[in-house]
Amino acid sequence: MNLILLGLPGAGKGTQAARITDQYNIPHISTGDMFRAAMKNKTELGLQAKTYMDAGDLVPDEVTNGIVKERLLQDDAKRGFLLDGYPRTLNQARALQQALASSNRRLHHVLYIKVPKEILMERLTGRFMCSNCGATYHKVTNPPKVEGTCDKCGAHDFYQREDDKPETVENRINVNEEQTEVLAKYYGEQGLVREIDGERHPKEVFEDIKDILK
Ligand code: ADP
Ligand code: AMP
Repeated sequence: MNLILLGLPGAGKGTQAARITDQYNIPHISTGDMFRAAMKNKTELGLQAKTYMDAGDLVPDEVTNGIVKERLLQDDAKRGFLLDGYPRTLNQARALQQALASSNRRLHHVLYIKVPKEILMERLTGRFMCSNCGATYHKVTNPPKVEGTCDKCGAHDFYQREDDKPETVENRINVNEEQTEVLAKYYGEQGLVREIDGERHPKEVFEDIKDILK
């Protein structure tokens, strides 16, 4: 299954991606995660991405398209994939289409998780992650079962993403808002968009996704 998760920052893409990849055994390809890993390892890609990410702006398409194209050619993505945070522009959507067509593949569904903008700010500023395995939590809506201990790997170290600080979050949401609508229209015209109400509990959101993927 070749899937895209579409939605504004904070809509719950990463949260649902973890469930989808567990259930369907396809790789989760998050451009944000790839950039953060590159930044952590201080690679050239990381240095290129850093200034944009720190400001909440998009990394230029030519950089982003290149890393996704390469990733999609790896063996584990040949059986299917879940793209999260990509494409974010029409140019990226077209590059993806070309990359897939050149290996005789196509998209099956674009899962569009919709959440009102007012809620996103609270979700993003309350988000924190496990330093060891990257599992995502929220201080109010989704804390670890045992305070201070990651449910997934048992680690005790957590961090807040640099770009989840209140001063960056607003710009990130605004930068993504118009683009997301453009993409929803683009994929809507191809009959690929499945709209999902992302305001409910993550479990219920996942139930909807499973129904769609049946
Ligand atoms: P995205 O990957 O779309 O940016 P995340 O999956 O990281 O979003 O979710 C953003 C924040 O909101 C996280 O702190 C997460 O725990 C929380 N969250 C995710 N889904 C829900 C939901 N359905 N209801 C309430 N909080 C949620
Ligand atoms: P995310 O983890 O999806 O919230 O992305 C975090 C940041 O990484 C974004 O604010 C951008 O700076 C950058 N980024 C991630 N994906 C893309 C993309 N497809 N195009 C451009 N920039 C991206």
